Amino acid sequence: MNGCREQGAWHRFVHSGRSVGRLEEGGTLMAATPVMQLPVISECAAESCAYNHEHTCHAAAITVGELDSPVCDTFMSADIEGGEPSVTGRVGACKMADCRHNTGLECHAPSITVGSEHEQVDCLTYART
Ligand code: SF4
Ligand code: SF4
Repeated sequence: MNGCREQGAWHRFVHSGRSVGRLEEGGTLMAATPVMQLPVISECAAESCAYNHEHTCHAAAITVGELDSPVCDTFMSADIEGGEPSVTGRVGACKMADCRHNTGLECHAPSITVGSEHEQVDCLTYART
């Protein structure tokens, strides 16, 4: 759920499904939360990914999980530089409801690592409950 939605007298701003702030009537922006608390990707070994530079992910917020495997759904093999060089990637959303770090389809691990497993690029921090 991205963008802005109206709810009563204020607007809630959401990014990757998380509330990041709200605008009260009169225009006062209330405390923003969580984007900076998204789990950081401490290392990613997928050098062929457009967002990867020297084992660091530069995608602002990746999505993990597809069907029943913790694949990095943001992986993109392309000869272009993706993401923002000054940003270290974080987990925006994760579909692996059976991971012990997952609550409400969001990751709550302090950090994750990503790398090759079973011939695909997976979250290596995935731990089945
Ligand atoms: S975590 Fe995913 S998007 Fe980021 S560099 Fe690795 S494969 Fe690419
Ligand atoms: S640690 Fe678990 S919840 Fe977090 S991104 Fe990996 S698979 Fe998803």
